[in-house]
Amino acid sequence: MKIVILDGYTENPGDLSWDGFAALGELTVYDRTPADQILSRIGDAEIVITNKTPLTRETFAACPGIRYVGVLATGYNVVDIEAAKEKGIPVTNIPTYGTTAVAQMVFALLLEICHHVGEHSEAVHRGEWTNSPDFCFWNTPLMELAGKTIGVIGFGRIGQNTAQIARAFGLQVLAYDEYPNDAARALGDYVTLDELLAQSDIISLHCPLFPSTEGIINKDSIAKMKDGVILINTSRGPLVAEADLAQALNSGKVYAAGLDVVATEPIRADNPLLNAKNCIITPHIAWAPKESRARLMDIAVNNLKAFLEQKPVNVVNA
Ligand code: NAD
Repeated sequence: MKIVILDGYTENPGDLSWDGFAALGELTVYDRTPADQILSRIGDAEIVITNKTPLTRETFAACPGIRYVGVLATGYNVVDIEAAKEKGIPVTNIPTYGTTAVAQMVFALLLEICHHVGEHSEAVHRGEWTNSPDFCFWNTPLMELAGKTIGVIGFGRIGQNTAQIARAFGLQVLAYDEYPNDAARALGDYVTLDELLAQSDIISLHCPLFPSTEGIINKDSIAKMKDGVILINTSRGPLVAEADLAQALNSGKVYAAGLDVVATEPIRADNPLLNAKNCIITPHIAWAPKESRARLMDIAVNNLKAFLEQKPVNVVNA
């Protein structure tokens, strides 16, 4: 049985092992697959594993050998799951593997905004401390979190984990979710979206990208926020209307933003956020600590094993 991994590099740049897959069939791993090589690389493989390489209706028509598609991610919008279903091909995803890593990243971004650790360390290495007339100096405003209010939009797994950490910092937690659930009430106070926007000093996005959430942060919602609010986005770039956020950062309405995701990835050179004031951007790394990728690998291998044992799990197009 041939197994082809079309774009394995981000999941395993060399610090993990593909042996779990290799034990299940004849494995070929490609770091990346350009669009014009997708069909030839799949060839007559029965098992196709993808992360972001698209598998379209045309792919399934041209590669009739495919019996199973495993997505190395939670989001599976790169696969035409209906077309796969019509051909009886199950598509699986990894529903959860990086909850704690993403919540940790929220605070990596937030603490960077509070203390600018990287910038201060660079200043020290440039000699600014050696030459300072005082025993200490700081080049940016410094900020304490305790006593402030964080508003979490999307109070699911990552949102709730973020709330747990937030409480340890002494933050008050407000939550907005389309579907409030009783278990989460202990971690934060559910409010309406408008209340959250008006009362939060920090807003962190954790809802999925749906047509209803695309651009949820825009000129109008920003206008409802406190002056000097901080925005954190570790969810999906298109949740934010980027030109509106850039304008709000430059005017100071939004004091700072910490973004791990942008609307088009990799980021385009003309993204207005690249030149906006006080905007920290990381290249979609929240999911990527080794522990979290190892968990993803284990689940992906188990998904394939379960399929081969005719007890499929994590099928998104059942
Ligand atoms: P989850 O499904 O557990 O939680 C999402 C929550 O959003 C749910 O409680 C849901 O009810 C709520 N929601 C749905 N529609 C909403 C709406 N219109 N308004 C407000 N809330 C709404 O998902 P999760 O595991 O917490 O992941 C959250 C998001 O994090 C994912 O959708 C994904 O986009 C993102 N993510 C990013 C990375 C990264 O590396 N940066 C990694 C993993 C996940």
